[in-house]
Amino acid sequence: AVEVYDIHKRFGPLSVLNGVSVSAQPGEVVSMIGSSGSGKSTFLRCINLLEQPNDGRIVVDGEEIKMKKTADGGAMPADMRQVERIRARVGMVFQNFNLWPHMTVLENIIEAPLHVLKEGRSEAVEHAHALLKKVGLSDKHAQYPGQLSGGQQQRAAIARTLAMRPKVILLDEPTSALDPELVGEVLLVIRQLAEEGNTMILVTHEMQFAREVSHKILFLHQGKVEEEGPPAELFANPRSERLRQFLARTL
Ligand code: ATP
Ligand code: MG
Repeated sequence: AVEVYDIHKRFGPLSVLNGVSVSAQPGEVVSMIGSSGSGKSTFLRCINLLEQPNDGRIVVDGEEIKMKKTADGGAMPADMRQVERIRARVGMVFQNFNLWPHMTVLENIIEAPLHVLKEGRSEAVEHAHALLKKVGLSDKHAQYPGQLSGGQQQRAAIARTLAMRPKVILLDEPTSALDPELVGEVLLVIRQLAEEGNTMILVTHEMQFAREVSHKILFLHQGKVEEEGPPAELFANPRSERLRQFLARTL
């Protein structure tokens, strides 16, 4: 599970997150929607501390990240070793795949298990092949990312994330860099992960997909959760005018 309370994040004078709380219980899929600039990516990056939140509490798998006060009245993580340890339990899938171009698909997948989890090579390789099979890329293990289509690269990136056996998977617009005809194959893999009971927080513009796979949807507006609820309710009966307008623009 991941539980995040009252996250604040500023970039200089700009307040990007103004007290965002989200929780995803084991097996839950939570989707975040909202306009460009509403703070969705920043929020995901705060959860695994790619960005340091200025305030708030983050609990991953029951362990709370220790924060300390800073001179400007904000807060920051107190113990970077704890951050490293927790970050290893939080998988992240990015919009632009972020595979290492100079490594084969297989090498990309086993890199972190070997060096972060200290897995043995044969165990890591065996797990990698099982994951490649799961995402439908068994025949691509020896290719370099540049030799794959965007959809294949994103599926390889998902396999790489899964190789760390994450407790929670964060996905930041995993299909928005893809040509339309490649979106489906990636959504299929994500749907499968949802059905297998993975805990996920998904930022997406794919409204129909979010509606189908999510247990809960949050609508972010100007760094705040403007509305949240089960998808059927939220899409059928948006209470806030802003959400109504957003849905009218995107559906
Ligand atoms: P999109 O749908 O376009 O991906 P988003 O909801 O993910 O948007 P964020 O990327 O979280 O939005 O950005 C929220 C705000 O924070 C924007 O105004 C952005 O310019 C600002 N911002 C993000 N990262 C930084 C940074 N490193 N330094 C300064 N400002 C930043
Ligand atoms: Mg974003």
